[in-house]
Amino acid sequence: MAQQGRASARVWCAEELFPMLACMDRIVIVGAGQGAAQCVEGLRRKGYPGAITVIGEEPVLPYQRPPLSKKYLAGELPIERMLLRHEAFYAEQRVEMLTGRRVARLDRGRRCVHLDDGSLQAYDALVLATGSRPRSLPLVGAEAPGVHVLRTMADADGLRVEAAAGKHAVIIGGGYIGLETAATLRQLGMEVTVLEAADRLMKRVVAEPVSTYYHHEHTRHGVTIRCAARVIGLRTAASGRIAAVLTDAGELAADLLVVGVGVVPNDELAREAGLDCDNGILVDERCRSSDPLIYAIGDCSNHPSLHYGRRVRLESVDNAFEQAATVAANLAGVDTVHNRVPWFWSDQYHHKMLIVGLSGGHDRMVLRGDPASHSFSCCYLREGELIAIDTVNNAKDQMAARKLIAARFRADPSKLADASIALKDCGI
Ligand SMILES: Cc1cc2nc3c(=O)[nH]c(=O)nc-3n(C[C@H](O)[C@H](O)[C@H](O)COP(=O)(O)OP(=O)(O)OC[C@H]3O[C@@H](n4cnc5c(N)ncnc54)[C@H](O)[C@@H]3O)c2cc1C
Repeated sequence: MAQQGRASARVWCAEELFPMLACMDRIVIVGAGQGAAQCVEGLRRKGYPGAITVIGEEPVLPYQRPPLSKKYLAGELPIERMLLRHEAFYAEQRVEMLTGRRVARLDRGRRCVHLDDGSLQAYDALVLATGSRPRSLPLVGAEAPGVHVLRTMADADGLRVEAAAGKHAVIIGGGYIGLETAATLRQLGMEVTVLEAADRLMKRVVAEPVSTYYHHEHTRHGVTIRCAARVIGLRTAASGRIAAVLTDAGELAADLLVVGVGVVPNDELAREAGLDCDNGILVDERCRSSDPLIYAIGDCSNHPSLHYGRRVRLESVDNAFEQAATVAANLAGVDTVHNRVPWFWSDQYHHKMLIVGLSGGHDRMVLRGDPASHSFSCCYLREGELIAIDTVNNAKDQMAARKLIAARFRADPSKLADASIALKDCGI
């Protein structure tokens, strides 16, 4: 969910920008996902009157990605309910939607983008909302039939076609995507094994009690979890299809394999055009890149978190949504700084996990409540300040934490550990 970034981007001052922003007749958005849809909406809501063109390589209008590993994969959500907005909305808002088209190159000098069909789109301001893509396994056989990743609707459709009760799915990666997919495939009646390289599930993003809780829940639902597993190869059948995963503990037969080992930002267009990039496109607190006419939002952007005092690249709906709102406001002439405490959710079985804030750099973690009750939280403190919280089926803590973390709440660890005391009353 959160990735660090190192370098800094140039900061543009209002005097430099004002003359440029005064003639924004044509805005082009590259990528037609979560961030793009929100940006379009924000631009019109803030009164931007000019032309808007959205170019997206997927052959569908922008849709919600989270259900791809959950209800959509389970076959419980029809495509109409996946769309963030229907066709009529974009028509009413006078937005040109070029779906199924890929941007091949940016030409900053001529202020235009080159599409894969050889056509050009000119812009006065450009928003890069190109998202991220699954990291691939550097193993022979990783492209074989039966090996899946989960990023797009097409990926989920392909996986659902092959998911059959009684067959064995091996999932490499015990992070959110791997575990959500495990829960759904189990619900579809598959035998499921999750292979995780670390010594516990979701280690990068949650505290140990949360990992242990989910390990137990997956096991209770019949998923086999193997932590500290080292995948050393893949074996394919004579047909070329995936047949087994080779680990340091032996061979594991697989009817299908799902690879969920993280994502990489789609920042190549920006890199090739000479924009500053370092684990994503470097932007300032207004989401502006090193070219003042080009903005970057969502998974592909790397921004300075004012709250945490460091650069981060976030992979969440909330981040794409908030950054899109920031860019829309700035392009509509309302000077706006992106300064939010991020949050992220994950649904596995009927459990709701919600993480608020970034726990990196904490010096203390306090468990609040009993995991056996299926409702608890893990609070992260740095020098007494509440900087983040992982909540499991705990809406009260989650709601309170959003305000408290933003307000730099200082908490008493002994009060925090007593779940009968409301979070807001746990101050020093
Ligand atoms: C299976 C799954 C489950 C998830 N679950 C959750 C969850 O529970 N909670 C949560 O907060 N987040 C979740 N996420 C993450 C969340 O969906 C993303 O963080 C969010 O979609 C990012 O929005 P975005 O606009 O940056 O990118 P995207 O929504 O990925 O959109 C980017 C679009 O740009 C297109 N594109 C890229 N390059 C080009 C190009 N050159 N030309 C044209 N188009 C291009 C891509 O094909 C894509 O359609 C999940 C993601 C996945 C895949």
